[in-house]
This record gives sequence, structure tokens and C-alpha cells, in this order.
Amino acid sequence: MAEAQRTITGIGVCPGRVVGPVVVMPEAIEEPSPGLRLPPRADHQGEADRIAVARDQVTADLQRAASLVEGETREVLEATATIAADPTLLEDARRRVLEEHLVPERAVWEAAAAVAEQFEAIGGYLAERARDIADIRDRLVAALTGRPAPGVPEHPEPFVLVAPDLAPSATAALDPERVLAIVTDGAGPTSHTAIVANAKGIPAVVAATGASAALHAGDTVLVDGSAGTVVLHPTAAQIEAAAALADRVRTFDGRGRTRDGHRVQLLANVGDPAGAEPAARAGAEGVGLFRSEFCFLDRDQPPTVAEQVAAYRTVLSAFGGRKVVVRTLDSGADKPLNFLSVDDEENPALGVRGLRTAGRWPELLEDQLAAIAAARDAESAEVWVMAPMVSTVAETEWFVARCAAHGLDVAGVMVEVPSAALLAGPILARARFASIGTNDLTQYTMAADRLLGSLAELSDPWQPAVLQLVAATCAGGAQQDRPVGVCGEAASNPVLAVVLVGLGVSSLSMTARAIPDVAALLAEVDLADAQRLAQLALVAESAADARAVVRAGLPQLAELGL
Ligand code: PEP
Ligand code: MG
Repeated sequence: MAEAQRTITGIGVCPGRVVGPVVVMPEAIEEPSPGLRLPPRADHQGEADRIAVARDQVTADLQRAASLVEGETREVLEATATIAADPTLLEDARRRVLEEHLVPERAVWEAAAAVAEQFEAIGGYLAERARDIADIRDRLVAALTGRPAPGVPEHPEPFVLVAPDLAPSATAALDPERVLAIVTDGAGPTSHTAIVANAKGIPAVVAATGASAALHAGDTVLVDGSAGTVVLHPTAAQIEAAAALADRVRTFDGRGRTRDGHRVQLLANVGDPAGAEPAARAGAEGVGLFRSEFCFLDRDQPPTVAEQVAAYRTVLSAFGGRKVVVRTLDSGADKPLNFLSVDDEENPALGVRGLRTAGRWPELLEDQLAAIAAARDAESAEVWVMAPMVSTVAETEWFVARCAAHGLDVAGVMVEVPSAALLAGPILARARFASIGTNDLTQYTMAADRLLGSLAELSDPWQPAVLQLVAATCAGGAQQDRPVGVCGEAASNPVLAVVLVGLGVSSLSMTARAIPDVAALLAEVDLADAQRLAQLALVAESAADARAVVRAGLPQLAELGL
């Protein structure tokens, strides 16, 4: 008898329909309490021996996992297995049990800290391996306490990863060849986890409340990253339909437009120089958001002007003759910098961040604008510059003036704060264009931290309040005859893209791999239809209603598989 079908609903953040077996991400291992000691009459020798048994199990598990995969992943697992087999950690942990009477998991924890410290002191290759020690430590603690090994489990065939939540770094490490889709209970649609999944092209459904409890290892699921649904035990017909869609390769002809020919520029978001070439190859009409932070993050000193020029030129040269919108440094809150000491802030998201950093450290902006201008002079791309997190008309005026001083005449602002949306008229009397960062605009409109999965329902760009601010920005743009684009994650959702175009947005910038789907749906919709659907979304009373009413008005979605 067929097993009962069940659909779990969340928020789709990366389109695509895939079927596969569930692999459940185990919970993270927490530090065993420092005071945990064995009772006086405990079998200390026996407890110490348990560590050796756990070590053998962990080494064997790592070797087996390595044998299931190929390439770099295999090399990493083999190296970790070799370190696990090394006696140093084992001997140190055993001594702590025998002499200090620590429980084995606490002894392992402390021994691992000591070994990692030694590795770091030696430096070079061993310092880089200090991270592997933490991995081995967690595996040992899991084995000693009877829990599943931490991290993404190895699996012989591609799988759907189900997790209560997933850190952005864990998402970044996922291999799209092996992970067919991601389903999380938490994480909002504008979280970094969602952004990374989208950039890697892994279909994802976030905020799927209860998914990790309802889905078990080995269950077959159909994940629909567009509709935001996870179907447990799909029918043969559903599996066949998903496979047919997966075989269809969609391309983009390089000119975004509605069915009746209304032009909408489809641009790429680029996060580092390495991302530029693939985006250009995908046919993006230009770059709508070049996130320049990569140059500044994880460094102890700001980059020199020469370093910046070289990095920016790589991106500009990939888009010769095309538009590239460079966003000046957006630091603070979710993007902290090592070399800037911001005062202790209780609420960094509301603190000195984005353009406010440039107000505090003007030389950073001056150097960056000089570097952008020099890169522009050396390449043929059409360079636009914009500032993140602009809140006032005065900030706009100041930024535009600083850009003009460097000969950067096309200076714009990101609309990420409700005040900027409401003041779009006067702001766009000064700035040449606006680009709406819907990730932050949603965060600040809904007062919901974009990093908190538990607030995913609020962190949804379909929220009618967010859409009304998009409409207000477009009205300001129309008043001043200035273009308004969107460069937040919202632009990569084909259905929401139709609404944004209907609200008056003239360019959409997204992860390059989303462009063909967005282009395909726009090409099936007349501008008047987009405008009508946008009005329906604007007057909806919830994000879910807005999404539902627009999807219902787009019968093309089924045929396009979106
Ligand atoms: C945004 O906030 O929508 C945006 C595009 O900027 P980031 O995601 O880099 O904050
Ligand atoms: Mg932002």
C-alpha cells in the first residue's frame, strides 16, 4: 500500500523541483560542562579505554565516508581520518581521565583544545589543521555520548538535507552535486543561508516549521523550491514530472522584457571577482550589485587602493561595455570588519553600518572611490556607484558629492531603510538612481532580524508593507524620472519579480543562475497584467495572501515549472 502523502509548507528561496532521499543533519555538539567528573569509585581505566574505542570508531567512520566520495571531499576526509588516528589527542585525553578524573567527553574536549593550541603555535600546515581537531573532538564526544556524528552526514547518493537550521558557513560548504535540496525548520528567506543556497543553485525551502521532526532519514521527498513545499512520499507521476522539468535547460537571450516588449534589465549580483566571469557567461545584461565587501572582510588592515583597483578591474573586464553597479563598502552588523573598532553597540543592525561607516572613517570611502574611478578608467564597463544603508537626504547629498569629486557621476543609493523609501522623491532629486535592497528593507520594515529563522514569517519580502515601500520608492523615481531597481533576493523569485515590475521597477539584479527563470516568466506576462497583479499584492493583508493571489493569477507557472 502506498504510504500516506503529506505536504509541509515553508518559503521557497531557490527555484527547482527535485526528488531524493532525506538525510537529517544532526544537532550541533555542545561543550560538556567543565565540572563533569567521574564519581570516586568509578572504573577510571575502563572509562579511559572507552576513548580508545570511540577513537577507533571515529577513524573507521571517516575512512568509510572518504571511500564513498571523490575528489577534494575525499582528500579532506582522509586527512581528518589520519589526524584522528594520531595518538597525541587520545593519550592526552586518557591522562585527563586517569589523573584528573574528568568524564571522557570532557577530557576529550580539553585535550582537543590543548592539541589545537600546539598546532596553532607550530603554524603552517598544522595551524590550518586546527579546525580538523574541532571536527574530530565533536565526533569523539558524539560517539562517547551515543549521539550521531555532527556535520553533514555522508551518503552514497545525492540527497535532500533536512536540518532544524543551517549556518551560512555550513551552507557554503555544501556540494551542489551531492545536496539536491535543503529544507530547514528555521532560516528566513532573506537570511544569509538562503542567499548562499540561492547562489549555489541548491533548491531550498526555509521556515518549513516541523520539517526536521516530520521527515526521517531515507524518506523520499519532492522539494519544490518555487512553491516552498516539501511533499513526503510523492506519487510516481509527481516524480516523473519533476524529472522532466530537471531535464529542461533554460537559457537567457540577454534581453529582459515582458511579453508586450516592456524592457526590464536583468542583471547579476556578484560577490567577488571569481563570480564575474560565470555571471557574464550566463548572459547577464550587467552587474546590478557588485558587493565590494569581499575585499575588506577577514583582514586585519584595509586593502590598499592598488589591491582594490586590481580586484574591481577583474569584474569590470568581464562586463566590458556593460553596466556594473559597484556598491561601496557595506560593513557592520552581519558583516563586521576586523580593523574597525565600532563602539560596543547593543543593536549593531541599528548602529554604525553601511554608509554610516564612511561617515565615521571617511578615508575608507575616499580610497574606495579613488580605486573604483581608477578601475573604471582602465576598463570599458559603464560604472555606476551606490551607497548602502542610506537613510536621509543629507546622506545622499554627501555621498553624491564625494562620488562627483572622484569623477564618478552616476551615483545612486540603496533603499534598505523605510525612511529612504518614503523620501525617495527628494533623495532621487539628488541621486541618479535607486536600487532597493529588499533583504534589509524587509528587516527594517518588519523589525525582524534577517538572521533569525524564528522570524521567517516576518522576514518575507512578500509582506504587503514591504511592497508598499517598494511602490513608494518607484513613485519617487517616477516623480524625478530616475530608474529604480531591485537587487535583494526578492528579484530572483520569478513570481515576485513580476510584482516588482508591476510596481514600476525597471531592473532586477539577482544571482546569475536565477536569470533564465525570471526572464522566462516575464516573457509570458504583459506589463498591464504585472501591474494588475502588483495591485492585488499591495492590498493583500498578509505575505501568504499576497503570494497566493499572485500565483493564482499566473496560470503560466505550471507550464514553466515555476
Ligand atoms: C539587501 O539588503 O537587499 C542587499 C542586497 O544587501 P545585502 O544582502 O548585501 O545586505
Ligand atoms: Mg543590505
